[in-house]
Amino acid sequence: MGYFSSFCVINTIAKPNQMRFSILFISCLLILAGCTNSHPVKQEVSKPKALHIALLPLSKADTNTINFLQQELHSYFKCQVDILPPQPIPPVYLNKEKGERYSADSLLHFISRYKTDSITNVLGITGKDIFTTMREQDGTVKQPAHKYVVWGIFGYGAQPGVSCVLSTYRLRHADTAIYLHRIKSVAIHELGHNMGLPHCNTLHCIMEAGKEKVSTIDEGAADFCNDCKKKLE
Ligand SMILES: [Zn+2]
Ligand SMILES: [Zn+2]
Repeated sequence: MGYFSSFCVINTIAKPNQMRFSILFISCLLILAGCTNSHPVKQEVSKPKALHIALLPLSKADTNTINFLQQELHSYFKCQVDILPPQPIPPVYLNKEKGERYSADSLLHFISRYKTDSITNVLGITGKDIFTTMREQDGTVKQPAHKYVVWGIFGYGAQPGVSCVLSTYRLRHADTAIYLHRIKSVAIHELGHNMGLPHCNTLHCIMEAGKEKVSTIDEGAADFCNDCKKKLE
C-alpha cells in the first residue's frame, strides 16, 4: 500500500479484551526484531453514522498544526472535529534501529482506545518520526530488508477502521503553505482509508499511493477524485 512508505499501511485490531496482550506482543516483536505487520490493518467499524472526528495530540504535536487541522477537516468533511487532551506516546513503541522511530502499527491500537460511542474516527498527530515494515503482497518483507523493516512514513490508517496517525516529522518545509498542504493531504488520505478507501490510480487523487516520495503529496490535490467520492456515498 502506497503511502506506507510515505502515507500508510494497515493491520488487524483485536477485540478490546485482547488489545493489551496484542500491544504487549507487538511491542515484544519490535524489541526482538524491530518489525511490524504491514498487512492492511482492519478494524471493526460500527454501522454508518454521522462522521465525528477527534484529533489526539501525541508527543511533540504542534498546537498550530492541530488547530489548522481542526478547521480544515471540519470544512472538508462538514462534520464535528474535536481536539482531545494530549497524550504521550508509550515509550515501548520506540525503535532505535534508525534513530528514533515509533511503531505506527502500535500507535493505531493506542489511538483507537480514544474512540467513543459518538466519535467515529480518531486521528493521532505527532511530531515524532513513525515507521512500519513494508511488505509485498505475499507478506514477505520488501527488499532490501535493511531499508524496509523500519521504514519511516508520513501517516498510517486502518482500512477500514477508526484510527489513523499522522507524523509531521517528514512533512516539515520552510514554506508554510507547502507544509500545511502536506498536513491536510495526509490527514484526509488516512481518514479516507478509515472510511474504507484503498489507494487510487487516478493521478493527483488524494488517495494516490505515496510512492515513497513527499513530492507525490506536493503535486497532488487535497481532494478525492470523482471515483473515490462515489465510493464514499
Ligand atoms: Zn495510503
Ligand atoms: Zn481517487
